[in-house]
Amino acid sequence: MMSRHPGVGRDPATLKKKEITGAVCMFKKILIANRGEIACRVAATARRLGIRTVAVYSQADAQSQHVAMCDESVLIGPAPAKESYLRIDRIIAAARDTGTEAIHPGYGFLSENEEFAAACETNGMVFIGPPASAIRAMGSKSAAKALMEQANVPLVPGYHGERQEADFLREQADAIGYPVLLKASAGGGGKGMRIVERSEDFAAALASCQREAINSFGDDRVLVEKYLQRPRHIEIQVFADTQGNCVYLFERDCSVQRRHQKVLEEAPAPGMTEERRQAMGEAAVNAARAVDYVGAGTVEFIANQDGSFYFMEMNTRLQVEHPVTELITGTDLVEWQLRVAAGEPLPMQQQDLRIDGHAIEARIYAENPEKGFLPSTGSLLHLRLPDAVAFAHGEVRIDAAVRQGDAITPHYDPMIAKLIVHGDDRAQALARMRQSLQAMEIVGPATNVAFLERLITTPAFTDAELDTGLIERHHALLFPPTEPVPVETVALWLAKLAMPDTTSHDPWDSPQGWRLNGNYHRQLRFDCDDQAFEVVLDYRRDGWRMAYQSQETILTRIAIDQTSVSLSIEGRRISGRVVRVDDRFHVFWQGQHRILSWSDPMAHAGEHESEGGRLTAPMPGKIVQLMVAEGASVEKGTPLLIMEAMKMEHTISAPAKGKVEALNYAVGDQVAEGAQLLSFTPEAS
Ligand code: ADP
Repeated sequence: MMSRHPGVGRDPATLKKKEITGAVCMFKKILIANRGEIACRVAATARRLGIRTVAVYSQADAQSQHVAMCDESVLIGPAPAKESYLRIDRIIAAARDTGTEAIHPGYGFLSENEEFAAACETNGMVFIGPPASAIRAMGSKSAAKALMEQANVPLVPGYHGERQEADFLREQADAIGYPVLLKASAGGGGKGMRIVERSEDFAAALASCQREAINSFGDDRVLVEKYLQRPRHIEIQVFADTQGNCVYLFERDCSVQRRHQKVLEEAPAPGMTEERRQAMGEAAVNAARAVDYVGAGTVEFIANQDGSFYFMEMNTRLQVEHPVTELITGTDLVEWQLRVAAGEPLPMQQQDLRIDGHAIEARIYAENPEKGFLPSTGSLLHLRLPDAVAFAHGEVRIDAAVRQGDAITPHYDPMIAKLIVHGDDRAQALARMRQSLQAMEIVGPATNVAFLERLITTPAFTDAELDTGLIERHHALLFPPTEPVPVETVALWLAKLAMPDTTSHDPWDSPQGWRLNGNYHRQLRFDCDDQAFEVVLDYRRDGWRMAYQSQETILTRIAIDQTSVSLSIEGRRISGRVVRVDDRFHVFWQGQHRILSWSDPMAHAGEHESEGGRLTAPMPGKIVQLMVAEGASVEKGTPLLIMEAMKMEHTISAPAKGKVEALNYAVGDQVAEGAQLLSFTPEAS
């Protein structure tokens, strides 16, 4: 579902020229040692350059998009990554068997594994990434810092040496001054990080950091840093070739984080001055040169509000957020990676690189922001990404690898898609981001879509008052109390509930639907966000009168086409989408996704009615099938008849063991609410 290939439409002349040269010396076939959106992303560029692709996949991914997008595919093991995407031997074997010249590792999995990079080399394949030695040099945060110190790259005040005795580290922390931050040297993904506010708390925090470090990385070494107040995370994209060229493709601001993990990324960084950009860019290039870097890399800095910045770490691979850089520079960084790995010089030099406009990326996750961003899993029962909506000029890009029906499994990262927008300036990019988020419809796992919309409209974010604590500080705004369900949402739900799925014209006039007895009055209840709501519906000559939250509204004229619902409410036309999954109705209206639960009262019909021997219709409907004969003796729960109401079939079952004395209606008969359907005598117990 790569909607748009980066670079296309931005600088076609350069791309064409490079494609021609590429056809001569570029790889003929590459293997992509990854899955999900990044595997699709790499495959898209390879295809554009005329390179054949080989996918590897786990058993869980046999039907996945990345397999479908590649020319060949090889099964490498069961679902757990340890047994598939992290199996160096199997991936190398797959590459050998398919005659692959080079391997792209994507991000995550084996992308920063020096053993894997070395194995590629040993087996005569090109690792599309830096040399194993550069991965090793940057692999340990402490060792990397020592190297950076020599290269004159600014460091956060702290201790990153070999000594690890608790007392010694505490002395270091005391000297740095609190608060300090403890980090696992081998760390990543925020694991092991502990903020220590006071000297008295140091020992306990150290023990806890070490425990998490050994569990996550098998290495309990730590480093101590000054903990900066309200810092920003600003990183520099660098690129180096084998001819000794190294450039920076400017910065990305990734300050908006939750649990030390990025949520929104943008380029350029708001408030960045030319001088500082150059200073940071040059520091990043120095960092890369210090380890003889080749390929795409990211040097991460932590910056104070006053602009002073310090090296944090270098990621020796393509980053998740690389598209924002592509959109502001008009480049395709995967193409750059392929060219550099094939031995070509960098496509552009520093003086050729320019920033055009502003780009923002949002990571769409299957997670529950209200429950501490806990990952969520499940099938994507309904999926509409803004891709499907016609946006002009490719200013909206979706990098995804999911289709409706695919599942988000607990085996892999719960990212559903990346939404990347570009605009002439930040305000325009933000407007596009909002529009795109509102166009997104996902039913299945919980997602962060609504949270992201609140986040990008929070004044602190729109005013670019960025720092890594933004989400926590604005918690109250970002997690407001749930709002009442809008009348429009309720109306759309009722229309879906009442009407058949594929009505074409004017179902209000049809004898179907609810208009069974001419005079119709009904009271319905639904739940939304753990609150119960009531709505009363009356059929009148002028339409349907809906009473909801002490407000009366007239609904008229509707059209339903599968999931789209349009209706007129007090003469105002509204449209939305309603997706039904069992008792839950997902109503999308104006960017809002509300889930209305409605328990079908018919499903429980008869349950409380056995005493009087009467089985009545709890709502108007039509008899569609009789399943027993008069005089039949039945067990409790035996289906007796099926009636249809609200375009759904409902089975009326025997409330107890007993005898069917009489059937009062025939197939095809209309029955009113409360009508006695049959006479039933429960067996005396
Ligand atoms: P990891 O590799 O585990 O992701 P990083 O060193 O990249 O860890 O840091 C992750 C995030 O933690 C940063 O983006 C920043 O938000 C925060 N952070 C790291 N170092 C500091 C520091 N010295 N002071 C304040 N915040 C920090």
